[in-house]
Amino acid sequence: MKKPTEIEQIYDRLSSSYGTFEESDDEWMTNGLSSTPFKSLVSVALSTMTSSPRTVKAAVALYEKVSTFEDLAEIDDAELTELIRSVAHYNRKTRSLKAMSRMILDEHAGQIPSTREELMALPGIGRKCADIMLNFVFESPSIAVDTHVKRVVQRIGMVEPGTAEQVADALATITPPQYTAHAHEWLIQHGMQTCTAHAPRCEECPVREWCDNVHERSA
Ligand code: SF4
Repeated sequence: MKKPTEIEQIYDRLSSSYGTFEESDDEWMTNGLSSTPFKSLVSVALSTMTSSPRTVKAAVALYEKVSTFEDLAEIDDAELTELIRSVAHYNRKTRSLKAMSRMILDEHAGQIPSTREELMALPGIGRKCADIMLNFVFESPSIAVDTHVKRVVQRIGMVEPGTAEQVADALATITPPQYTAHAHEWLIQHGMQTCTAHAPRCEECPVREWCDNVHERSA
């Protein structure tokens, strides 16, 4: 496992190699998918098992029609399904978005709850979505772990192999406070642009000097 000083050096290098989503032309940001807490929650719910372009397409169409949980609770089911048809499991997501909105209105006075337990009790919201909300909206030291982040931190050797939940817990523990706000953004970009699943570009990797897998991945 890495020493705390090495973890800090890795984050320092990642932070100077990749911009934050705000600084980049990330389509999620340029299309305003996180411009309000409502949009953040609905966008992450739409995004599960779905590519970013398909999520953006659905979200942009949806936000032309709805901007509050009241709107979402009241929109006709068939119209909602049609608006979000570009995402995976659009029928199931139609049902969960409606149920999620009703729960927020009925049990949380229209406010998005701010604890992981309450967020994960919302229909359609799992651990990754809850951690994204905790990190980006509530500024808590959670780091959302998706397939890219999990692969990267395990290859480098920042955390022990485990489930996404175990990796998220470990990552939240070892990440220095000054890096928690953007750790997910740097790690996910590293996973998509450099440390890709099938052809990691180790020869141009900014953190290769700390990586446990650099030699075998370069072979
Ligand atoms: S050296 Fe290779 S395997 Fe290691 S983090 Fe960089 S790209 Fe990934």
